[in-house]
Amino acid sequence: MTAQNTGSPPDSSVSNPYWSPVVQRLTPYVPGEQPRLSNLVKLNTNENPYGPSPRVLAAIQAELSDALRLYPDPNAERLKQVIADYYAVTPAQVFVGNGSDEVLAHIFHALFQHPDPLLFPDITYSFYPVYCGLYGIDCATVPLTQDFALRVADYLRPNGGIIFANPNAPTGCLLPLADIEWLLERNRDSVVVVDEAYIDFGGDTAISLVNRYPNLLVAQTLSKSRSLAGLRVGLAVGHSELIEALERVKNSFNSYPLDRLAMAGAVAAFEDREHFERTRQAVIANRVKLTAALTELGFTVLPSAANFVFARHPQRDGAGLMDILRKRGIIVRHFRLPRIDQFLRITVGAPEQNAALISALREILTGG
Ligand SMILES: *Cc1c(COP(=O)(O)O)cnc(C)c1O
Repeated sequence: MTAQNTGSPPDSSVSNPYWSPVVQRLTPYVPGEQPRLSNLVKLNTNENPYGPSPRVLAAIQAELSDALRLYPDPNAERLKQVIADYYAVTPAQVFVGNGSDEVLAHIFHALFQHPDPLLFPDITYSFYPVYCGLYGIDCATVPLTQDFALRVADYLRPNGGIIFANPNAPTGCLLPLADIEWLLERNRDSVVVVDEAYIDFGGDTAISLVNRYPNLLVAQTLSKSRSLAGLRVGLAVGHSELIEALERVKNSFNSYPLDRLAMAGAVAAFEDREHFERTRQAVIANRVKLTAALTELGFTVLPSAANFVFARHPQRDGAGLMDILRKRGIIVRHFRLPRIDQFLRITVGAPEQNAALISALREILTGG
């Protein structure tokens, strides 16, 4: 079993004279636990409780052949075309990579190394500062408001780029598209990246703005709303010159980030709109129910447009609650970080998983 994930940095006193200096200084990202026990109620890494489309599985099966001896298409042309058609852009406006984490790494490398600092919220996806460490990018955090809202006016200052997740992680809060456009109108000299890992669960994609703002780049993943975290496919959509920057980095790093199986599966995932729509709506309905049940138990639940909720109980310590739940076989995520250390991030599971969580919490909170 992996170490408990606390969100705190690993031991940085470990070092080795063979290591490059940059490695000695790295503070790697710590992903949520992937336990080997299968009887756990796993609500800690925002995976989709509904499986991927059967058409995805069939497409991957069909790709399992002697053709695996051949390298995959380094330019992922078919997948880019399918994504371009889906979002009504051109294939030259689409980049794909091995999960959106890899796409984001290339974005940081290709577009954010500038004299002025990269700006992102103080509470955000905790991989952003990690990429800054890896690529030596100067960054500055911009505090969210007291109620965890992103105020775009706070970003109007010299910067070497702006990135935020929308809906935000780990709060789930959604920034309206009009606010993003307001910012793009006023921030013309640097790239604005919107990380839309959760957008399908409750927001409008900023991809509709890419033809009007050449400095806008939108990142998405198939891990959450398309239930393919295990396949590792992510994408970015923006002006073809931004995409070209990403292609240059990618082609200086790994020509084949997506294998044949991943590309076949990803194409089928975009083609099966019915499965996507049905499972997406089910997750949204489950989120509404879970939010109501947590509220009834006395939790404060932030308004979520994602496939998780961010909640705290006024009388119970966040880390303590996580530990008690874990002993009962229910894993949720807790971040030992300023401002949010009393919160739990709870993935919206299948109805029976959510019910198990609620009944465990009811017992814990009422001592019954
Ligand atoms: C899950 C997540 C990602 C990474 O997605 P992968 O495609 O699985 O690498 C990126 N950004 C945010 C905000 C996420 O929550």
